[in-house]
Amino acid sequence: MHFELTEEQKLLQETAYKFAVKEFEPLAKECDREEKYPRELWKKACETGLVGCYIPEKYGGPGFGFLEVALITEQLCRIDLGLSLVVTAATFGSENILLFGTEEQKQKYLPLLVNGEAISAGAYTEPDAGTDVAGTKTTALRDGDEYVINGSKMFITNGTVCDWMVVLCVTNPKEEKRHRRHSLILVEADRPGITRNKIKGKMGIRASDTAEIIFEDVRVPCANLIGEEGKGFYQLMHFFDVTRTMVAAQGVGLAQGALDKTLKYVQERKTFGQPLASYQGIQFQLAEMATRIEAARNITYKAAWKADQGEIDPALNAMAKYFAGEVAVWVCDKALQLHGGYGYIDEYDVQRFYRDAKILEIYEGAKEAEKITIARRLF
Ligand SMILES: Cc1cc2nc3c(=O)[nH]c(=O)nc-3n(C[C@H](O)[C@H](O)[C@H](O)COP(=O)(O)OP(=O)(O)OC[C@H]3O[C@@H](n4cnc5c(N)ncnc54)[C@H](O)[C@@H]3O)c2cc1C
Repeated sequence: MHFELTEEQKLLQETAYKFAVKEFEPLAKECDREEKYPRELWKKACETGLVGCYIPEKYGGPGFGFLEVALITEQLCRIDLGLSLVVTAATFGSENILLFGTEEQKQKYLPLLVNGEAISAGAYTEPDAGTDVAGTKTTALRDGDEYVINGSKMFITNGTVCDWMVVLCVTNPKEEKRHRRHSLILVEADRPGITRNKIKGKMGIRASDTAEIIFEDVRVPCANLIGEEGKGFYQLMHFFDVTRTMVAAQGVGLAQGALDKTLKYVQERKTFGQPLASYQGIQFQLAEMATRIEAARNITYKAAWKADQGEIDPALNAMAKYFAGEVAVWVCDKALQLHGGYGYIDEYDVQRFYRDAKILEIYEGAKEAEKITIARRLF
């Protein structure tokens, strides 16, 4: 067993962290307060090579492994989760193209994501179907060599800024088994019949774009099918097995960022004539925060490393995602408490971290869904 990162991996961490400090810090408060998606930041990230890092060289990306992508994600999230999503989620949904698409689809779409020419989205959740993915109702029915799509999707990241989305639809409604009724279909965002409504008033990650999307008789060529008809549900479960580890990395990074800020604060802030850091009660809390973060980091790195060895482990990925999300929420609660009243004011970043953290227990499978996956393995 060897726990040391390579020099290249350490360099990637440094590059990502420096990028976040330089580019995120001046933007984070404004984008949070104004719920503003900073398109220019996405452009800069593309130029720096931080967008679509999983995309192989053949399609214009650096072709990094899961561990490298997790390392980059973690470092970006130390500064701001919402802005990190502008960078790391700019290609969300298109992992499906790489995993299940045809060679022609890969060549057509993937280079655009890396070159800063396109943003994508993964549209699966519906107003009445989140955790129960197979409860999806949006239909894509064949009419000649086209699909006609009707229905609506909810909480879609990049919904109003994306150029295309990979949409989970019911294509085989008569199939007896409900898990065999779905397919993934690529839908260009400018097709007639699509309405995109930005969802405002999110508790956190307010720089990240989130939208409701309505499809009314939207026609797409059958050539836009990603993978196999009727296999969409299973493809999506595999997609989540891959992307969940990246959400775990978000949790590790966000928690580390909250600890970084708290360590600085407790050394500056004095009570009863002494820095907070001098009290053992405070030190114990910091020690507990650091320990939980390190535990979450280790599961996350192990899950990513195993995926790089070709052994994607759904239960381990689920453990990483659920545990890292919970650690992030717990650490941010401690961090805010240690900032006292100042922590409650938005001039101090720690309250933004506190609000941002909660989404890690909800999106890409709420933590209860992760526990179902873990328990299934136990039995
Ligand atoms: C900011 C944001 C961004 C998002 N981005 C995307 C995106 O890009 N693409 C996309 O498709 N979706 C996205 N989502 C949707 C997200 O993945 C869902 O909200 C999530 O999967 C939960 O679904 P739900 O909200 O319908 O909750 P529900 O499924 O209604 O569940 C409600 C609660 O009950 C729990 N629960 C449900 N079933 C069970 C059970 N059997 N046992 C125990 N507990 C259970 C859940 O864990 C949850 O806590 C996003 C959501 C948000 C808020």
